[in-house]
Amino acid sequence: MDINNQKDFLIVGFGVAGLSISKHLLDHNYSFHVIADMQPKASVVSGGLLNPVSLKRLKTAWNADLFHSFAIEFYKQFGSLLNKDYIRSIPIYRLFSSIEEQNQWFSQPDANAVSSYLSNQISRLTNVYNPYQSSSVLDSFLIKLGLLIQDFSAFLQSHHSLTTSIFDYSRIQFSNDLIIYEGTAYKHLIFAEGYQMLNNPFFNYLPVYGNKGDYLIVRISDISEHRIYKSSKFLIPLGNQLFKFGATYQRQFSDFDISSEATRSLQSELDSLLKVDYDIVSQVSGVRPTSKDRFPVAGCHPTFKNLYILNAMGSRGIMSSPWLAKNLVESIVGVQEILKAVNVNRFTKKHFKQSNL
Ligand SMILES: Cc1cc2nc3c(=O)[nH]c(=O)nc-3n(C[C@H](O)[C@H](O)[C@H](O)COP(=O)(O)OP(=O)(O)OC[C@H]3O[C@@H](n4cnc5c(N)ncnc54)[C@H](O)[C@@H]3O)c2cc1C
Repeated sequence: MDINNQKDFLIVGFGVAGLSISKHLLDHNYSFHVIADMQPKASVVSGGLLNPVSLKRLKTAWNADLFHSFAIEFYKQFGSLLNKDYIRSIPIYRLFSSIEEQNQWFSQPDANAVSSYLSNQISRLTNVYNPYQSSSVLDSFLIKLGLLIQDFSAFLQSHHSLTTSIFDYSRIQFSNDLIIYEGTAYKHLIFAEGYQMLNNPFFNYLPVYGNKGDYLIVRISDISEHRIYKSSKFLIPLGNQLFKFGATYQRQFSDFDISSEATRSLQSELDSLLKVDYDIVSQVSGVRPTSKDRFPVAGCHPTFKNLYILNAMGSRGIMSSPWLAKNLVESIVGVQEILKAVNVNRFTKKHFKQSNL
């Protein structure tokens, strides 16, 4: 066997999960290489929201107190590494759908964790329908994730730490506790493949499903670009009078193309939100990887002890990935235990069969 080189980690995939792992490894001086097809997937299509509140249930998102502030610092750090800002503080205005919802917002006891994220100001916004007025989430951010993925992958490529290609599972060799791939030996291999994990012969036993989402990209000239509007869907400013509106949730789908059904439903919802004209510019679609119990999946393969996974980030990958990537790497090098709720071993007994390999 011809081995030219040895590194600590090999990472497959460079959405927000692979990016978060790479940043942690870079900061802690591990040697690593990334293999990624760089196809636009969930992370690039995503709305880019870093939002600690579940507006549907008016509760803090799962583990927001742990993940949110960590994620803010994480995205800010790229400013000094890549000389560009990728994070923007921006309020999310919830347009109340009823007087009951408005009352619920303003009657949250201080002791409730969510109240620290909710403004106590009520506002009537112009050029949108908001008969019950609105109020905003404090401490919400927009991440330019597509741009960050593009710039950080170029940075890693220039340091010979990222190759753009499709990882070929049949070319992995296992030798003396090392993984050999294309002439390099690695101590650990982490798969961060998003929904495409279903093609991975080592981890496709996991109950991970896709939830497809579409956004309309629209041009609106008479609406503020300094806030995100949340009615039934999010209206997110992209700059130059462009906005993303969505996203839809579709559990059953047969292709990755943009959906004409989504076009119709989004258009109808946008008509009920805006009092001003808009033009549809385009539409984008991606698949959220989601596990059966809706928690992310992280940790070690049941039998191959140097294969790992970070996946199933659902609809909050931007907030959870930075902390979970750190947690996974620290568990691999023995610094801390993997967070119990996300440990991949919760599915081993019921779903893993040795004979599947
Ligand atoms: C419409 C939509 C809106 C969303 N909005 C938000 C939001 O506002 N806020 C939020 O927090 N989350 C949002 N999400 C969820 C978030 O985007 C996901 O949780 C997150 O992006 C998943 O990241 P990932 O890195 O696991 O997967 P991905 O982003 O899919 O990245 C995986 C990458 O690995 C590559 N890959 C896979 N297999 C291989 C292989 N064999 N070889 C090489 N490369 C491979 C894939 O091509 C892909 O580029 C949204 C998702 C969707 C679909």
